[in-house]
This record gives sequence, structure tokens and C-alpha cells, in this order.
Amino acid sequence: MHPLARLDHRYVWHPFTQMRDWLRREPIVLVAGRGAVLRDVHGREYLDANASIWTNLHGHNHPRLNAALRRQLARVAHTSYLGLANEPAARLAAELVAAANPPGLPHQPRLAKVFYSDDGSTALEVALKLAYEFARRTGRARRPRFLSLAGAYHGDTVGAVSLGHIDLFHAAYAGLLFKSDAVMAPYCYRCPFNRAAPQRADARAWRQCRWECVDQVEQRLTAQRRRRGEPYAAFVIEPLIQGAAGMIPQPDGWLRRVAELARATGTLLIADEVLTGFGRTGVGSPVRVGNHRSARAGDSLFASHREGVQPDFLCLAKGLTGGYLPLAATLTTRAVFDAFLGEYAEFKTFFHGHSYTGNPLGTATARASLALLRTRASRLARARLEAALTRELARLWDLPAVGDVRQVGLIAGVELVRDWRTRAAFDLRERVGMRVCEAMARRGVLTRPIGNVVVLIPPYCTTQSQLRRMVGALADSVDEVLSR
Ligand code: PMP
Repeated sequence: MHPLARLDHRYVWHPFTQMRDWLRREPIVLVAGRGAVLRDVHGREYLDANASIWTNLHGHNHPRLNAALRRQLARVAHTSYLGLANEPAARLAAELVAAANPPGLPHQPRLAKVFYSDDGSTALEVALKLAYEFARRTGRARRPRFLSLAGAYHGDTVGAVSLGHIDLFHAAYAGLLFKSDAVMAPYCYRCPFNRAAPQRADARAWRQCRWECVDQVEQRLTAQRRRRGEPYAAFVIEPLIQGAAGMIPQPDGWLRRVAELARATGTLLIADEVLTGFGRTGVGSPVRVGNHRSARAGDSLFASHREGVQPDFLCLAKGLTGGYLPLAATLTTRAVFDAFLGEYAEFKTFFHGHSYTGNPLGTATARASLALLRTRASRLARARLEAALTRELARLWDLPAVGDVRQVGLIAGVELVRDWRTRAAFDLRERVGMRVCEAMARRGVLTRPIGNVVVLIPPYCTTQSQLRRMVGALADSVDEVLSR
């Protein structure tokens, strides 16, 4: 075993990992990366098919991001954001506000202020606390409650876990959490209201339903008002696709409909775009905004805007720095900001912050990443990659163990099943997703499953032949693990 692997085995505890399994074999120890390729201590190369847990946008070792980081490093690595400002964080805030308010979204709340933190979980914690206190201070709710989607995952800190509804991860900590309500999420492939028989095509396309999932949201929102006399403090959503829930995409129109329902009951919207932000959900076609179609809103880097929805809180992390450094941002409206203004002695201050808030290395790198995203070359590359992903994924329908192939922009989830004709699921204990991903790693392609769903999230620089290898390794690995 390589000495670094031995050190790891001896001293490290890995996240979301059964360490007994981990300790049975030599781990892959990565030492370098370029573009979509990672290299380990033995000189073996791998394709980064989940963009290093959904963070990487432009590829590893990108010259523009490296240069921005080095430039900032030559000035200063970190200074406190408590009582002090810094250059890259101030400039990035202005750029994020511009990106978050595309011109084609009229009559929407304007996102005006940026609160920095470190990770997806903390971006959600900030939104939660702000929404909670905003509801109390404005008299909209005396006992603010939150609504989120069944199967939701919003992070691992205690507030974010309270919004989550994945029993496997969350049930053990129930005693630590505050209570939030869950409402049915659209999951067309396994929807009890979808009367269509399984087909060899995306379940969203052939579903037969009457939008019962939207009715359930409406019932929840109105029941909360009726029973408690006040709306939810906020409805927390991952727009267009729920990630850790199993890469579960929403059918066209779902987001717009539920956003309208939330607004009608006075419920604020928290959009968790930790996964979906920064172009992940694709280069947009024109979107419907009210009664017209807006090409410019469709151009937005954020998933919410693809359905003409502007949330009251926009939570960003992962891809914010192009996958280089931990940095998060929670954007919100002037109205929320104003509720925390007052004389010092009124103690309306938002008493929240982290030591590395507004970190100059992270914010400088994020600026370089945003600049890259705005280039025509990046837009074109993303559009081409998205089309190539659609083409490549199509071949997976030939595999009998593939039940559903779901794609939203540059995110794909492939649900493996015992029998596609009945949608019969594998027991989690069989570790089918894990075994397929282990077989993919042996073929030089790295990704991680969510239960029985294999995830492909390629960096935007992935070439067509690299993409073909990623999907090919997935197909061969499914064949190896399940057909033989
Ligand atoms: N929200 C979503 C949608 C996520 O996918 C994740 C992480 N997978 C988080 C929040 C939490 O982010 P982090 O791991 O950076 O705390």
C-alpha cells in the first residue's frame, strides 16, 4: 500500500463513508488534476465524472482561476470580515447581485444583499435564520415554521438537517432538530399519481397525471394558514432538480406553479442552488415570465430563473469558486436586510458570522469563475456538452437494469432497478450503486452514487470523447455488476 494510503487508513475518518469498508482496501489517493482528469499516487488517471462532488465547473488547474488565486495570494490570504471589508469580496458581491437579477425578470423581488459563509450547509443556515427572524419582526408569523420537499437534503449542520427529509441520514438526529413540514416532491418515475406504465424514456415525458403534486403543495400552504393563522416563514426548494434526494427532476412548469402558490399565501421562497447554480442546469432557452417569453432570463446562471421565478433567498456554494475553495453566499432582498436595521442598542443586528467569512482567496477565485462563465466560449462549450450528454445517455436505455435516465442540463442521474417493467428497486443493503461506481473507478471514471442512482456531473471542460468514456464506463459497469 502506498505510504499516503497507509497514513490515511491510520488517521483519517471520511465523510459519508462506512469506515470498515474503507479500511478493507487501498484508497485512491489523488495528487494532481488538469481539466476533467485526476491523477493518483500511482500515476493512474481518472475522469472526474461527478466534478469532485458537484463543485468543479471549468476543470482542475484552470489557468485563469490559478492566476486569480495567485494574484490574491501575493496580496493577502485572509482578513477578518467582522468589522472590516476587502476588495474581492466587495467586487464579487456586486457581480453576484448583477448575475442574480437578470433583466428579463420583471415584478419580482430584487436580490440586493449578499451574506457570505463557507459551505452549502451554512448558506442554508443563514437563509433559515434570516427568514425566521424576518417573519417574527414583520409580524408575519409568531412561531415561524418551514416547509420543504419530501426527500430533501440541504446540508449537514443542525438547521439544514432540520429541513431535510432523508431518514437514512437524518432520523438518528431527530432529537436535535427543530420541526419542519415536508410536502410531496415531484418524482415522476415513482409518483403514485402517475398512471403511465414504465417506458424506455424519461418518466417526465410520458407521465399521466393531473399535477397532483402541485395540489399537495397548495393544500399544505393553505392548511398552514388556516390552522395556524399565519403562512410558513419560507418554502425551501431546490429548483428544477433535487440533488441528494436522488437526482429527481421536476416536470416543466412545476416550479413556476408552486412559486405562484407560495406567493399567493405570503410564503417566502428559499432557493437552494448549491447544486443547480452557475449554469449546472444548462444554457437556457427563453423562459416564460408572466405572459411573455424572456430570452434574457433564460440566459441566467441560476435554475430558478429558468422558470421565471425569483426567490427571496438564493443560497450558493459548491460551484461558486469553480470548485476551488469553500465559499458560500446567501443573497436576499432589501426588505429582509431592512428588518435588521436599527440603532445599535435595539440589538437588531444579525448576530451570525464565521471566521472565514468573505475570504479573499475564495472571493477572488469566484470572480474569475464568474468571468469565465460569462464568456461566449463557456456558453458554447456548455451547450455542446449538454447536447452530447443527451446523446450519450440515450444508449443506457438498452440496459435492462436501467429504470430511469434523468437529465437536467449538465446533471444526470441513472436509476438502477431490479426490473424496469415493474420499477422494482434494489435493497440499499445490496450496495448496487456503490458496486457500479467501484467498477467505474476500475475503468478510470470517478463518481459516487446516491443509493441506486448513479450520478454524472461532468466538469464543463469535459470533451466529447471524455464524456463518451464516462457513459461507456457506466454502461459496462452496470453490465458487469448486474447482468452477469
Ligand atoms: N444543498 C444542496 C442542494 C446540496 O447538494 C448540498 C451538498 N451536497 C448542500 C446543500 C450542502 O452543501 P455542503 O456540503 O457544501 O455543506
